Parts: sequence; structure tokens; C-alpha cells
Amino acid sequence: MATTLITGGTVVSATGRGAADLLIDGERIVALIEPGATVLGANLTETVDTVIDATGKYVIPGGIDAHTHMSMPFGGTTAADTFETGTRAAAWGGTTTIIDFAVQKFGERVQDSLQTWHDMAAGECAIDYSFHQIIGDVNDESLRAMRELPGEGISSFKLFMAYPGVFYSDDAQILRAMQTGADTGLLTMMHAENGPAIDVLVGQLLAQGKTDPYYHGIARAWELEEEATHRAIMLAKLTGAPLYVVHVSAKQAVAQLAAARDRGQNVFGETCPQYLYLSLEDQLGAPGFEGAKWVCSTPLRSKHDHHQDEAWQALRTNDLQMVSTDHCPFCMKGQKDMGIGDFSKIPNGIGSVEHRMDLMYQGVVDGKISLERWVEITATTPARMFGLYGRKGVLAPGADADVVIYDPNGHTSIGVEATHHMNMDHSAWEGYEIDGHVDTVLSRGKVVVDDNTYLGRKGDGRFVRRDPCQYLT
Ligand SMILES: [Zn+2]
Repeated sequence: MATTLITGGTVVSATGRGAADLLIDGERIVALIEPGATVLGANLTETVDTVIDATGKYVIPGGIDAHTHMSMPFGGTTAADTFETGTRAAAWGGTTTIIDFAVQKFGERVQDSLQTWHDMAAGECAIDYSFHQIIGDVNDESLRAMRELPGEGISSFKLFMAYPGVFYSDDAQILRAMQTGADTGLLTMMHAENGPAIDVLVGQLLAQGKTDPYYHGIARAWELEEEATHRAIMLAKLTGAPLYVVHVSAKQAVAQLAAARDRGQNVFGETCPQYLYLSLEDQLGAPGFEGAKWVCSTPLRSKHDHHQDEAWQALRTNDLQMVSTDHCPFCMKGQKDMGIGDFSKIPNGIGSVEHRMDLMYQGVVDGKISLERWVEITATTPARMFGLYGRKGVLAPGADADVVIYDPNGHTSIGVEATHHMNMDHSAWEGYEIDGHVDTVLSRGKVVVDDNTYLGRKGDGRFVRRDPCQYLT
């Protein structure tokens, strides 16, 4: 097996940082050693196959993006990134594992949907991947099928309180699925927005001629996120199901999660870069149809109500535990433009899988989170939350050699022309200037990105079976 030594860098974990060299043998990390130390009389720099100089740089575990939708069918179209293009873009940005969502549609067998997603991803991915299972049709048969998921290496499933007639589960279905989840050791993930109420508001706004993208954010009011979050928490409490609320954007929903955690309940929340940086007014409310670029659900929130600041604070205080992207890109031409004259027909989603590590690092630069917290919310907690810890999310002997060498003195300009590798005709982050740069990325010991060059191949990434949730605090 080929050996690699990463020398001279500062190794950063969720709990600290220090100078150390990282020794990799094949696909695994075998040791962290004192810089320059001789091992059994040998200087490792002379005996290993490859030496990578990380002087002046951070050496961190590869990012884990636990919320992506490659090739996701939505609103009569399909997310623009495939498993091939999306995972390659992820690698460029220092993410070495994604957890995507297999979608059980209404009337479909759960097992068949999972197989469909395996077929889409197999042999296509640049980095390792796993799946959560969306249960879009809770019934006796799908509840039985849920019990088979841990045996398939799937330890989490997702329900929707939004999108009536598509993915929506009513309260009776949620209760039954949570009971099964609690009983089976599956983590319940929830899209928490009151979909039936949203649909009424959508209809009323359109009838008043309010058709611009901005009104997507008005229809999906924060009250309906707070209410659904509270309802999900109460149903989870009743059933004893651990609960993970995806893409939390409203500060009032954060408060619901914090209150439940203070009562000792196992509830967790994820937010996304768009809810930390972007707003209802500045992006969704952009002139003309431009705001369509930022139509996603939950929606961007008002900057006047300081939802963004509250989300940063919640990340600091662990009221929110991690950051994923909800990567679900659609092009403006031929996809988003289906909603010209009717915001409800704009496919929901933003593409960020490539930028999560960089965007969250700006929180370190700005003094909003520590360097260690950056690693924790982007890699270590996702690994613990979703049953990957030990293999992923940590630089320790025995772990997969998923490693990012990050240059804090580097610079990254984000833009559709300049840098990005996602399969999109625009960037939701156009013009963002990043302090920091992903220099080198290793996926299971193989250098896949180095010096602004992609060295990987599709099919490098493998399906990763997951253990049960390990994050109960
Ligand atoms: Zn999503």
C-alpha cells in the first residue's frame, strides 16, 4: 500500500489544534506523530512514498455534507447536478462525503426507491456517499420496509410536513413513522413547515397578482416553520423518537429546538449557509425574476428580524448542531424560469455543495465561531449524528484518510465563470470573496484535488453503510 506523510501543518479537530504530521497507509490514517520525529530510527519523510508539505496550513477532516439532492426530481424537473457532477464539485470544495436522499414517491415501494438511488449513484461518485430514506407515503407496507433500513446501512429517514400531494405526511402518518423510527433505532429527520397552510397563502397571493419570487418567502411565513417545528418536537416527545430538523431558518424555530433540548429531549437542528448569509430582502427580493435563484424551502428570512445573526449564535451555543447545504441546484434557463409569472412553479433549491467549507470558514475569519467549531459543525458532528464517526469526521488512527489541507492565507472568488464546478448556469454566491482556500483534498488516501487541479475520477467514491445515530446529548 502507498504511504503518504502530510507534514508541517496544524491539525485541527473538534476539540483542539496542534502541530502534527499525519501518516497515511493506503486508504487509512495510521498515526499522528510529532513533527520531524524519527520512528523506529527512521525519518519518515525519507521512507514514505509521498510527502505533502502543509506548512502554514490547516489539516482537517474532510467535510461531510449530510443534506444533498443530486438528480432530485422536483416540480416537473430534476436537480441539475448528477451524482457525478455534484460529488466532483463537493470534492473541489473540501467535502469528502455526502449523504443524499433516496425518495420514496407516493405509491412506490421503499425498497425500490432505495435501489433506484443506488443505481443512480453507483460508479458515478467522486467521493464517498450514503443515503437517508425519504418516506413519501407512510402506510403499513412502508412502515414494515423502514424496519429493514438499518440492515441496508441506512440509519435515518425523512418526513415532510410540507408539499401536500407530493411528499407530505399528515400528523397521523408522522406519529406512526416516528413510533417505528424510535422502535427501530432510526433517526427521524423532518422538513418542518406547515404545508397545507402555506398552500392557502400561495393561492391567495397569486390571486392578488403577487407572483414574484419574493412572495415565496411571504407565503412560507416563519410562523408556519415555528408551528411545524413545535408540532414535530411534541410528536417526537410522545413517541420517544430522536428528531433532527433539517434546514432551520427562522429564529423562532431555533428557539423551539433550544427549549426542547433544555428540557432534555433528543432534538437537533441543522442550518445551511444560505440562512446565515442571505435574506428575504436582498436576494429573494432582487429586481425582476432574479430572486428565483434563491427560491428554496424553508425560505430566506428577513434581515430586519435578524434571523441570520440568531442562527450564527445558535451555532456557537450548540442550539443548532451542524451545517449542511440542502444542495439542490436548478438552472435559471429551462428550470427556474418555469416560474416566471407564478413563483409557486419555481423549482425549490440552491446549489452550495462546493462552497460550504469556505463559507463556514468565514465564520472563523469574522470571529463568529472558533476554528475547532468549524471542523465540528462541518465534519465531526455530521459523522456522529449519522453513524459515520470513527471512519469519518476525525483524523485519528484507523479513520479513513479523508483529509483537507486548507490554506488560511489563500483566497477564493466564487462565481459561475470564475471558479465553480457545479452544473449550474448561475451561482447563488456570485461575487463572494472567501478568505481561505481548499488546497489539497484526499479521499480515502487518494489525492483528488491539488493545486487547483482535479485528479479524481468518477467511481472513486463508494457507498458507505452507516451505524445508528451516535449523537445523543
Ligand atoms: Zn432538502
